[in-house]
Amino acid sequence: MKSVTHYLKRLFLLELFKGMGVTGRYLFARKITIQYPEEKTPLSPRFRGHHALRRYPNGEERCIACKLCEAVCPALAITIEASPREDGTRRTTRYEIDMVKCIFCGFCEESCPVDSIVETNVFEYHGEQRGDLLMTKERLLAMGDKMEPQIANDRASDAKYR
Ligand code: SF4
Ligand code: SF4
Repeated sequence: MKSVTHYLKRLFLLELFKGMGVTGRYLFARKITIQYPEEKTPLSPRFRGHHALRRYPNGEERCIACKLCEAVCPALAITIEASPREDGTRRTTRYEIDMVKCIFCGFCEESCPVDSIVETNVFEYHGEQRGDLLMTKERLLAMGDKMEPQIANDRASDAKYR
């Protein structure tokens, strides 16, 4: 009996018409696709994109070289070297994130006691040659300077939902 049903289904192309029915239903439904990159979908304030190192309003780096982010990173993507400055404060002399290794888990951001390393909503970046995706301290600080208004805004909206 099973094989007869199967035979009839194949004979009358039932599966094909079923599939075309689905296509027809969506042909006139409201479109859910967008014309990227001209159009963009909204992003959550907790979106985890390109990293940035933040500064205090007086321009001083927030990072105190505690290395918690380096220790917590499951992908071993962060490399930090540090030494004390002349004024006795401790700062990084090298802070690098290998974006090829990073899995964007957000642990580094969560572990940071001074809200220094953060993940911005920037996801449009790429590398064309070796080393392009190795984010140095200078590049991360520059990203922080550029994105500070958005980072502060995300922090404010995120606090509303806590
Ligand atoms: S987001 Fe996760 S994987 Fe990427 S650098 Fe931070 S801790 Fe490491
Ligand atoms: S970014 Fe934050 S967690 Fe990482 S070393 Fe600097 S202060 Fe510590």
